[in-house]
Amino acid sequence: MEIKITSTQEKLKKYLDKIKKENSKINAFLELRDEKELLREAKAIDEKIKKGTAGKLAGKIIAVKANINVKGLHASCASKTLENYKAGYDATVIRKIKEEDGLIIGITNMDEFACGSSGETSAFGPCKNPAALNSGKDLIPGGSSSGSAAAVSAGFCDMALGSDTGGSIRNPASHCGVVGIKPTYSSVSRYGLIDLSMSLDQIGPIAKNVSDAALLLDVIQGKDENDSISQESKNLNLRDIDKIPKNITIGVLDLEGIKMEKEIQKLIEERIKNASEKYKWKIKKIEIPHLDVAIATYYLLVYVEFFSGTRRFDGRRYGKKIGDVAGPEVLRRILGGSEISKAEHHGRYYHLALKTKKLIEEEFSKSFQDVDCIVSPTVPRLPHKIGEKISVEEMYGYDALTIPSNLAGNCAISIPAGNINGVPVGLQIICDKFQEQKMLQTARGFEEIE
Ligand code: GLN
Repeated sequence: MEIKITSTQEKLKKYLDKIKKENSKINAFLELRDEKELLREAKAIDEKIKKGTAGKLAGKIIAVKANINVKGLHASCASKTLENYKAGYDATVIRKIKEEDGLIIGITNMDEFACGSSGETSAFGPCKNPAALNSGKDLIPGGSSSGSAAAVSAGFCDMALGSDTGGSIRNPASHCGVVGIKPTYSSVSRYGLIDLSMSLDQIGPIAKNVSDAALLLDVIQGKDENDSISQESKNLNLRDIDKIPKNITIGVLDLEGIKMEKEIQKLIEERIKNASEKYKWKIKKIEIPHLDVAIATYYLLVYVEFFSGTRRFDGRRYGKKIGDVAGPEVLRRILGGSEISKAEHHGRYYHLALKTKKLIEEEFSKSFQDVDCIVSPTVPRLPHKIGEKISVEEMYGYDALTIPSNLAGNCAISIPAGNINGVPVGLQIICDKFQEQKMLQTARGFEEIE
């Protein structure tokens, strides 16, 4: 539901009212900022708007995933480990949002330490999918940025930040019927993000539409001296975002070897057909030969990097000892990562995974010599019911089509593509590294024919 803007203050009050009434049911927010302080800031922003001195995000109300540091708020990663940890500084993305007058409203729920695809591994209870309430069931919103996607989808805020290591922005965006972007690896500073897997993590925006997501991306991207691998990205030209690209070739991914729900595939194929007819886009079938080993490659890297990254949570400096209080998925990864590290002789596991990552990266680069973007479903299956037992393989399988972009380091967006039995389905557009402008313009094209 779109809330009519009268002023930042009015909008904020409406959002706060709605959150008070509905958050206990959805569980999207773990923490809200002090109401008086929020209203004071909203008033100051409205005054700046009147004077014509306001920044690019003035009037936008933004939620933040619980693994990103916002000074004074809890960066708990939805874990008992960091339950009482309050951030002492702002992540670079937060500093940039504040500088452009975005109003941060609170901290959202997530899978514990971003480990999960369903939002169910949070130590503070699962989050519900607000877009599927009419399906008559309590479905997962997807994860790990479950609360961020749910908050945008439920109409609790305008935009949100998530993090995407293997799909955690795009997956919940897809299930909740909103837009989510994983930017090119290294294009957004990760300073202040509590990492899951350093060589794959990216912070990115979630919003109700492509234009808002582009606006937030434009603010947060760019080189940062606090993140040594960060790079300057091409400036986005937001004014041209509505120029639907002509003469482009859409690559359609060969999904052989991916466990896919046929109805989802059919819906996305229809979308591609309609868009290509309307805009006279060419279509070309493409193959990423190592697509079928993407999941195995990804989890090897994540287990090892997560194990190594979590050694600092030993109960001495930050909160509690992770091994004593974390949930089963986090423990599985720590134990698995420790075993793999011990067995790492002659580059057997981690280094083999790095080589495969490189191969997948090269296969994508090669494809982008022939096509402008690659379109596929975002998630190969519909969300399950909260609490329903699914196997670890099935859970990991949710990310079969999002993980490849993290391995390749390119950019990808998920946009709403329709519903199946009242449950949203997302369409993913992948572009080559630093081709965000083209990706966003193509996404606007698909969005127009919704
Ligand atoms: N679901 C994947 C995992 O559990 C991706 C998580 C993410 O992108 N943060 O690792």
